[in-house]
Amino acid sequence: MKIGIPKGLLYCKYHPFINTFFTELGAEVVTSPETNKDILNMGVKYSVDEACLPIKIFHGHTAYLKSKCDIMLIPRIMCLNKDEYICPKFCGLPELILNDIPNMPKCITYPIYAFSYNSFRKYIFKVGMCITKNYFKIQKAYKKAMQVQIQYKKGIKNHGFKLNVALVGHPYNIYDKFANMDLIKKLNKLGIGVVTEDFIEKNEINNQIKNLFKKPFWTFTKNSYGFSRYMAVNKKVDGVIYISSFACGIDSVTIELIKSELCNFPFLILKIDEQTGEAGFYTRLEAFADMLERRCT
Ligand code: SF4
Repeated sequence: MKIGIPKGLLYCKYHPFINTFFTELGAEVVTSPETNKDILNMGVKYSVDEACLPIKIFHGHTAYLKSKCDIMLIPRIMCLNKDEYICPKFCGLPELILNDIPNMPKCITYPIYAFSYNSFRKYIFKVGMCITKNYFKIQKAYKKAMQVQIQYKKGIKNHGFKLNVALVGHPYNIYDKFANMDLIKKLNKLGIGVVTEDFIEKNEINNQIKNLFKKPFWTFTKNSYGFSRYMAVNKKVDGVIYISSFACGIDSVTIELIKSELCNFPFLILKIDEQTGEAGFYTRLEAFADMLERRCT
């Protein structure tokens, strides 16, 4: 059986688990390529105008794969931590895809509640049963996939740069080079090193949250706010760059929370959508780099 895995949204973070699990079950894993112009164009064609860029890109990956597999995984991620949620678009992702894209193959769309071992295990067994009825094979594949995921170290931490920034935002915006127009390479070219939230301890993020009136409802808000505050307050970096999707409701709240916290600390917001021009994007980075340089001297 060929299982289609779209390389969009949180695939960038969980691909070791996903690929290992299905391969161990005996399925042939078929992935879409890295995001490119054709994928984006297909995504724009199939999704509603109001959707954010990552959702459009996910549509593009799905459309690319639809005729190349027998069954497709459309992850309906509900929550990753207890009492926190991801985003309404993640919760309704299968409905978006199945209503927007015609002639889709059979899809695996069970909800994912990954805040506890038991709830995630239940999900995994339901998914595994779509490929094989062998309980022991699923159990073995799950164990192996977990090991591979735990060993996988994600994150960017550049060394040897005079200036350094915390790069904040959704993982799919940070790791999709096409969507962010190769932002990290551009920053490195300007003499700026980058560090991402993967390099601070979870409990550091949770400590920063105590500063807020109320614990954020969204996991993305918690991580971005906690990481930005920790890096700025402890002077671990010279500035913070937030890469944000145009039309993301969660970002609109998160950015305001960070802005009010950082006060005079250098903070650049880069909005991306399918219309973002590379020249203007680079000019803003140059101006930010100049400002950081002047503050340093
Ligand atoms: S969190 Fe924002 S960028 Fe991510 S899918 Fe939801 S609306 Fe889009």
